[in-house]
Amino acid sequence: MDFYTRAASPSETATPINAVSPPIFQTSVYAFRDIDEVDALLGGERQGYSYTRGGNPNFEGLAQLIAALEDTEAAVVTASGTAGLFAAILALMPRPSRILLAREIYGGTVGIARNLLTPFGYRMEWVDTHDAEAMDAALSGPPAILVMESISNPLGRVSPLKELIAMAHAHGVPVLVDNTFATPFHARPATWGADLVVHSVTKFIGGHSDLILGVVAGSRERIASVNSIVDSAGFTPDPFASWLALRGARTLALRMDRSSSNALQLAHALEGMPAVRRVYYPGLPSHPDHGLAQRLLTRGFGSIVSLSLNGGFSAVQRMIQTLQLVRFVPSLGDVSTTVSHPAVASHRELSPEEKVAVGIDASVVRISVGIEDAGDIIADFRQALA
Ligand SMILES: *Cc1c(COP(=O)(O)O)cnc(C)c1O
Repeated sequence: MDFYTRAASPSETATPINAVSPPIFQTSVYAFRDIDEVDALLGGERQGYSYTRGGNPNFEGLAQLIAALEDTEAAVVTASGTAGLFAAILALMPRPSRILLAREIYGGTVGIARNLLTPFGYRMEWVDTHDAEAMDAALSGPPAILVMESISNPLGRVSPLKELIAMAHAHGVPVLVDNTFATPFHARPATWGADLVVHSVTKFIGGHSDLILGVVAGSRERIASVNSIVDSAGFTPDPFASWLALRGARTLALRMDRSSSNALQLAHALEGMPAVRRVYYPGLPSHPDHGLAQRLLTRGFGSIVSLSLNGGFSAVQRMIQTLQLVRFVPSLGDVSTTVSHPAVASHRELSPEEKVAVGIDASVVRISVGIEDAGDIIADFRQALA
């Protein structure tokens, strides 16, 4: 069935006993008639739930919906996108090895590699996913995992994912793709061969800034490994957050359609404003990856537009203080349009040299475009930048 239909249709797990709206299973544990019953369930001979750290209809229903949208066999919901990234890296690479991080990766992912995994003997290496020769050399070394994003944060870079994944696999390197910015509406990296796909559900899938949650999608076998880490480490989500996220996910297609169309209009309008030095949006012909984005992404180019201002940091401060409709929020993916400052928030983890290498300086602002009227969003930026 079509993407819109899949998004709107929760599974039977989410809507048992003919419930139209998914009930909330706000319970940490289940009662059993006798010892034989619990033994059969824990031994895997009987289907059901026993203890919520290991499973609950709310997060399983959400996982099934996301697996359907990502075209994967299975998915597992986690307490946050960060927990999902951590569990996915450990599932793909359980023994210390090299973690190859795409240059433009989310700061929190750098934090996991550098602060959590390096002390265990993992080695973090930056790679340039736009340089095929350098990638071939990096992938040829000792055992490694490649971690990258389908649309990068915040500059909207798109890499030749199909070719990169094939190249990685030829070297025996598993690939983890963070699909938070594109969402399955625009990109389904598992269909290009990605071993696991991660989302911060906190962002577009939830869509309403009211929860923290993550998800990992992939083959049944891979997800079983992730699931055992999630259960053992206690990266389990909360039933109520999962319920809210499923409610949000059912309108994902509608929201992404609207917000990506708004983003394209805003990006074009910003390009013509004198205060703006540069607009970064893969839907613009001026973006270095526009051609690739047209080839890889479906139904548009996503809802994140970044820009750099001629007036540098002080101009950014004044723009933020002068915006009226658009609020300054260190996150993204809300139904409302928000702006954030990557150098101070999402990419705080990077050293000054690393920020320069990626092109994130203090003049860069990231806009997460919402579902309001495009004219109202553009007018607010026009008055603030004037
Ligand atoms: C926010 C974000 C994360 C982390 O997700 P949390 O839900 O905040 O833990 C990971 N990747 C990207 C691209 C993000 O924007």
